[in-house]
Amino acid sequence: MKRLVAALALAAAPLNAQSFDVTAIGVRGGVDDGNLTAWMIAPHGDKRAVMCDVGSLVNGIEAARKRGTLKGSRETILHDDIRGYMISHAHLDHLAGMLIAAPDDSKKPIYVLPSVGQKILDSYFNWDAWANFTDRGKAPALGNYRLTDLTPGETRPIDGTAMTLTAYPLAHGGVESTAFLVATDKASLLCLGDTGPDSLEKQPRLAQLWQAVASRVRDRNLKAIIIEVSYASDRPDKLLFGHLTPAYLLRSLHALEAAAGGKGALKGLPIVVSHIKPVLSGPDPRVTILRELNAGNDLGVRFILPDQGMRWAF
Ligand SMILES: [Zn+2]
Repeated sequence: MKRLVAALALAAAPLNAQSFDVTAIGVRGGVDDGNLTAWMIAPHGDKRAVMCDVGSLVNGIEAARKRGTLKGSRETILHDDIRGYMISHAHLDHLAGMLIAAPDDSKKPIYVLPSVGQKILDSYFNWDAWANFTDRGKAPALGNYRLTDLTPGETRPIDGTAMTLTAYPLAHGGVESTAFLVATDKASLLCLGDTGPDSLEKQPRLAQLWQAVASRVRDRNLKAIIIEVSYASDRPDKLLFGHLTPAYLLRSLHALEAAAGGKGALKGLPIVVSHIKPVLSGPDPRVTILRELNAGNDLGVRFILPDQGMRWAF
């Protein structure tokens, strides 16, 4: 526990050469319904942000306001500062915050791979589960959210911000998920939705993603990676359901290191560990997961275990 506290203190320390402000609106992978995967990303010092997944939203904005990491009213943050949503996949723990906020939200785009957009329309914005707040699908389409299809590997602006995004498909236990590369003209940051290891998913999605970003890692253009670890490493493969453990994350990061030029290529790179599945009783899996990550960290990366409402400048 002492080590966890030390790591969290380190995580909050300011860095030099800041390119992005990242706020943890929600950090967990389940159960904790006010604190589910949601990352607010903006260029450093610029309020115009995009969300990478929206498992929780208004509750997380409130948590950040209480910590003093977000300024302004809930309304201005939700309506003015957050300019769009990138949704990695249609599982509830990645978009419930958006669904619940939709009736009171400002007009904004939802950025999705086509398969993800279709599932969001079919499952939620269908006038059964919820009203159709998008501009597509079952009539009447209320048009508050502009569903914006992404082409894998193609870079496009994030409307109303000074950032671009590029989507890369991920494999998540039979579901198509997404990694988003967010970039300014100077730097980039990678935010991954849920993903299984390539070896279990039988698709080289992570390997392809690492190839795509290798030159940015080599040039020190990539400032941080937000990636999931759902369970500790003793979890049997057949119970991973398309998620990573510390052992699988370390293995995959070694593949990125190799793609980016070998030993030392990831030195100092912040890796924000998202989506840890909490348990209602028993030892905190965060302690085990951080211990396992640090024990295998011959890469020199900086693992960060976030708390809701924390904010970093990367
Ligand atoms: Zn999922």
